[in-house]
Amino acid sequence: MPEGDVIHLSALRLGRALDGQVLTRSDFRVPRHSTADLTGRAVLETVSRGKHLLTRVEGGLTVHTHLRMEGSWQISPAGRRLPGGDVVRLVLANARWQAAGVRLGMVDLVPTKEEGRLVGHLGPDLLGEDWDEAEAVRRLAGRPETSIGVALLDQRNLAGIGTIYRAETLFLAGVSPWRPVGTVEDLRTIVSIAWRLLDANKERPSRTTTGDLRPGRSTWVYGRAGRPCLRCGRRISRGEMGAQPQERLIFWCRHCQPDEPTG
Ligand SMILES: [Zn+2]
Repeated sequence: MPEGDVIHLSALRLGRALDGQVLTRSDFRVPRHSTADLTGRAVLETVSRGKHLLTRVEGGLTVHTHLRMEGSWQISPAGRRLPGGDVVRLVLANARWQAAGVRLGMVDLVPTKEEGRLVGHLGPDLLGEDWDEAEAVRRLAGRPETSIGVALLDQRNLAGIGTIYRAETLFLAGVSPWRPVGTVEDLRTIVSIAWRLLDANKERPSRTTTGDLRPGRSTWVYGRAGRPCLRCGRRISRGEMGAQPQERLIFWCRHCQPDEPTG
């Protein structure tokens, strides 16, 4: 599941390939915008907002995409064969580069001035230039009965955390994902750990929350169910939390992340 760091990196890569260049091809393979044509317009920039990507083009238009569960942007030299099998949802290309949006969960074309309608509900963006820790803490604290694991994934509180950073952040904070927000003494620490993890990975092609890139060592708890906790040696637990249908796996160590505050 793409998280804020992957989206941020996708925005950088799209920017390098498309910014300032005139589009020689635009191919929207979604019914709603199948006749849209951006050919002849220059791309201004691509920015990420939480898990959303906004590609702004000349003439006040924004291409809004979201990777959802399995989407990605594949960038290759112009004219290269595109991935087959009907997986490409959008192609944007200039004379040198082409960007193919593969299995995108969302493709939209909107006036740039209406971007707020798409992303205005989002809480502070962990990787945004306007990141506001105090506001994120305030929003989290606004629903004290919600479990902290659910609250961290709610993009209205703060934007950019997915299932991996949720699990890793709570492990490093020593807080059980099942604890109600209202019982967590130090929300600020949790938020700053999440920020640190995302920031450290934002331009790194392979993610690590432990500083170790070796297989099976790049996370503390995520994906490590049944294996020994890297801190205490007890087995890592796995469960599901929050609303389906999206993947909502949670991994945690019952010993290092007790259900009750330890004081
Ligand atoms: Zn442990």
